[in-house]
Amino acid sequence: MTAYERHPPHPVGGTIEVIAGPMFSGKTEELLRRLRRATLAKQAVTLFKPERDNRHGTTDVVSHDARRQPAQAVKDAAALEAMVDQMIASQNMPDVVGVDEVQFFGEDIVAVCNRMADSGIRVITAGLDLDYLGRPFGCMPLLLAHAEYVTKLHAICSITGRPAHFSHRVEGGNEDVQIGGAESYQALSREPYNDVVVRSHHRVTTSE
Ligand code: ADP
Ligand code: MG
Repeated sequence: MTAYERHPPHPVGGTIEVIAGPMFSGKTEELLRRLRRATLAKQAVTLFKPERDNRHGTTDVVSHDARRQPAQAVKDAAALEAMVDQMIASQNMPDVVGVDEVQFFGEDIVAVCNRMADSGIRVITAGLDLDYLGRPFGCMPLLLAHAEYVTKLHAICSITGRPAHFSHRVEGGNEDVQIGGAESYQALSREPYNDVVVRSHHRVTTSE
């Protein structure tokens, strides 16, 4: 055993990954793919999602093409950290923690992700980078800045067939958060998004 192995400077393996993009871009698919590979590597994997994402009436995380994996639904970042602390205390420390729909957590999720990564956990998060008005979504700017690895995915624009970076709310009200799927949102590339959204909503490029 080398001196380095006897005295590792930090727990090995802790990092933050962010998978970002609009709705239907394959964020959940990619998160589940990474978690499946970690499971194949015999790593202990735990998946979380915010309680408010109740689209599927279950605590499973489900992608738009119906891949699914059991998850723990938590009310906020503190509840997520408490569950991880409990696992560590009972000698079941996860090697990998996944968080889907991470944009719904407050900015305190960033400190929680950093603490998990500092203790050696590979943290893989997936979330919307922009809301339906094209504004940076909640904790995402901060999380993207802190992450070691960032992957931006694109959906297929339902008008042009080109890569889509925007989630357009087709129907529904003006609340900042409105949970929905294909009945409420469509993925659009820049030009059609500007056509339909800027005209009707005045897209903002900085948070108001
Ligand atoms: P996200 O988590 O980013 O919302 P999912 O991983 O749940 O996305 O779903 C991605 C899947 O959604 C794709 O593999 C495809 O089967 C389906 N899909 C439906 N509409 C679109 C679209 N406009 N562009 C790309 N994929 C779409
Ligand atoms: Mg998703």
